[in-house]
Amino acid sequence: MTRVAVVGAAGRMGQIIAAAMAGQSDIALSVLIDVRPPELLFGARHVGSLDEVDEGTIDVLVDFSTVETARQTATWAAARGIPTIIGTTGFTDADFAQWRADFENGHLLVAANFAIGAVLAQRFAVEAARYFERVEIIEYHHDRKVDAPSGTALETAKKIAAARTTSGLAPMSEPTTREPSVGSRGAEVDGIRIHAVRMPAMTAHQEVIFGGVGEGLTLRHDAYDRSSFAAGVILAVRHIRRFPGLTVGLDPLL
Ligand code: NAD
Repeated sequence: MTRVAVVGAAGRMGQIIAAAMAGQSDIALSVLIDVRPPELLFGARHVGSLDEVDEGTIDVLVDFSTVETARQTATWAAARGIPTIIGTTGFTDADFAQWRADFENGHLLVAANFAIGAVLAQRFAVEAARYFERVEIIEYHHDRKVDAPSGTALETAKKIAAARTTSGLAPMSEPTTREPSVGSRGAEVDGIRIHAVRMPAMTAHQEVIFGGVGEGLTLRHDAYDRSSFAAGVILAVRHIRRFPGLTVGLDPLL
């Protein structure tokens, strides 16, 4: 039985992750950590901070909170050798450098997207990248999302760009010579165009559109609601001990 504590457990993601954990026969949800009381406890105990947690009572720590809180979570867990999974997003290169050192002898998984389909779609996009002359990304999200493009789109663009470079593909030429409305061709990330759509009723969706001579290929992933992230987190809880040090992204676990 793996005993799990969730930081940010009263939040939108925290409640979904806690519910998913509580439904697993090999996982015991032990502590919910949040500055505000969670609506549902799922049989676990609520505390306001990690300072109130007895490290001997948990095997894996999961964090879906805020950037500042997740940094504290990582520091607390590294000092105690507790395998940790961070789903919070928005970290800097300096954070990852710090964690690479702090978890040299521990286990930390940081993933910006725990939807298994999204991770696979990204893997398939990298596979396709070397065969197609052109590629662009369209990401669609709900109308409350404050950042654009999405972290997943940024990561996908960077991985596709790296795959194109490795396979010797020339940079894409830009056909546009007149752009009366600046930005019509989207943002450019490592030479890949990303277009961001914001709509009510959407959750998180992404299309990677490839074009070659006489053919096209579109890879699309749809996350219809936040429960799409739960299976990836459960997978990470079950397997994190097999991945020493810092692991970035869910891909190595699949
Ligand atoms: P939310 O605001 O609903 O929840 C955050 C929770 O953290 C809140 O309940 C808040 O009270 C709590 N919190 C804040 N400071 C705290 C502290 N010092 N100690 C304990 N708890 C504290 O946000 P959300 O929508 O659940 O998203 C949380 C994070 O997860 C965001 O960074 C979001 O981008 C990320 N996210 C990641 C994925 C993924 O697949 N990796 C998917 C969805 C969201």
